[in-house]
Amino acid sequence: MRFIAGSALVLTAACGGTTAAESGKPVVDAAFFPLQWLVEKVGGPDVTVEGLTKPGVEPHDLELTPQQVAGVGKASLVVYVKGVQPAVDEAVAQHAADRGFDAASAVPKIDAPHDEHAEEEEHGHEELFYDPHIWLDPSRMATLATALGGRLAEIDPAHEAAYKERAKKTAAELGDLDFKMATGLMRCANRTIVTAHTAFGYLANRYKLEQVGIGGIDPDAEPSPARLAEAARIAKEKKVTTIFTEELVSPKVAEVLASEVGAKTAVLNPLESPPQGGDYISGMTANLTELRTALGCQ
Ligand SMILES: [Zn+2]
Repeated sequence: MRFIAGSALVLTAACGGTTAAESGKPVVDAAFFPLQWLVEKVGGPDVTVEGLTKPGVEPHDLELTPQQVAGVGKASLVVYVKGVQPAVDEAVAQHAADRGFDAASAVPKIDAPHDEHAEEEEHGHEELFYDPHIWLDPSRMATLATALGGRLAEIDPAHEAAYKERAKKTAAELGDLDFKMATGLMRCANRTIVTAHTAFGYLANRYKLEQVGIGGIDPDAEPSPARLAEAARIAKEKKVTTIFTEELVSPKVAEVLASEVGAKTAVLNPLESPPQGGDYISGMTANLTELRTALGCQ
């Protein structure tokens, strides 16, 4: 019995990494979409990328299969953002402590949005003191591209020049996007964005917008009636015309708020999952278009 169970485990573990092991390339596990995009850009053909979150799955909810946990244990590098997915944080801590690349540790962080009304509620996991949605600022993504290029070069020195070259090119593309967003959001009639899931803190911080999140950092956290009333008051006071919702979260709360304050709803994509037929750059460009319309930018 013991023997059978043991070999089944070895077999499952091997499935995750066979291709990569055969090809001899470093296997890089990427926790969710924007990280996977970044690893593919910087790693190029020199790495095998395995995404831990399937497209269309809300990444905050991710649970890892035993095969994925085994894969984390065998990966050359696991790229994740500590605080987004408790399951990944735990798998890295237990099985890949020396092979984790916590993207949040590579960029300046901002504090978690404070919601005094939510404090009495029970949370499943420990409270986070910083906002983990770092990827919604292209300038921080550019910093990450460079840092990731350096880390991949350490793991696989034979391809150092290629990693650094691709990192440089990716950082430049992200720099162009950052410039487009900065200029596109420079002159706007309104600078307040009301969002369903409080994911846009870094974007707001970078482009001098003010984010009013209805829900929490975790999109599943139901807003308290007090928080909803507060969001409605601010939305009216700031003459907000659009309440932002997103594809993977029910738009109900945002719709209720929009009808209460006489605004419409539009989709702002937190890019926690790949946009339909697009990538990180096109997804952020679509966000820029939505923001410019909603905020009346020139
Ligand atoms: Zn989020």
